[in-house]
Amino acid sequence: MSTSNWTVVLSGPPRESLADHLARQCGLALLVIPDLYDLPAEHPALAAMQQIAGPICFVSDYLPRAVYWMLAWRGIRGRRADCPQTRTTGRPIHAVCIAGADDHQAAERVLAVTGQSAGPGSIRRVVDSPSKRWYPVIDFDRCTSCLACAEFCLFGVYEASSAAAMRVERPDSCKGGCPACSFTCPAGAIMFPRYAPGGAVAGEDAGTPERLEGDALRHAARQSIGQWAPRPDAPAQRAKLDKTVDELESF
Ligand code: SF4
Ligand code: SF4
Repeated sequence: MSTSNWTVVLSGPPRESLADHLARQCGLALLVIPDLYDLPAEHPALAAMQQIAGPICFVSDYLPRAVYWMLAWRGIRGRRADCPQTRTTGRPIHAVCIAGADDHQAAERVLAVTGQSAGPGSIRRVVDSPSKRWYPVIDFDRCTSCLACAEFCLFGVYEASSAAAMRVERPDSCKGGCPACSFTCPAGAIMFPRYAPGGAVAGEDAGTPERLEGDALRHAARQSIGQWAPRPDAPAQRAKLDKTVDELESF
């Protein structure tokens, strides 16, 4: 049994017994952080991950493709090790999804990547409870910089850089529960990691989201934006929502 050079990052709702098992029984070095998707810029968990120079085994309830591009958006880059068909390069980043797995199953999935280590294991925790967020994540293995998402979104979430590379500039302007732009992307590059029906929108590798055209797209967008319910005491929000729905009716 050798010493593992992997750092295991455990993200999401606390799983103390899993963390203890991986560190104490399996000899692995762990970093325990809040839910990656919710981390605001400047959160100390991001700085802690940016300091990891070697391979990362990232463990969460999200699908690996979504995890990889969430990390890349925050400057934590490497080669997507769970996917042979990738253009990414550098040190391995292997995302492991443990949604629905018990501790034993989760540990097996982690050890299949890292192997057992002679240790000594360790746990470093950066824990708090950032607010829940909802915003798009772009897969740059797929994105062709066509700008369709920026033209479609009414809320200025996207912006193209001078090099015409698309970026998510104002993530918190995205309307909770709205995945509409993912259905307009010709490359299937837009993910919403919390999208409950799953599939390519949530980050599955296979396939692309079903493309919606005309009335179907307008209907999906209206449905999605309609879920964003402004408080009755917020007339400015109400007016903005009404204006948005009017614009959707007319495009
Ligand atoms: S619509 Fe899709 S392919 Fe086009 S710029 Fe946006 S993310 Fe990239
Ligand atoms: S989901 Fe809706 S609000 Fe969010 S970025 Fe896409 S089009 Fe804009």
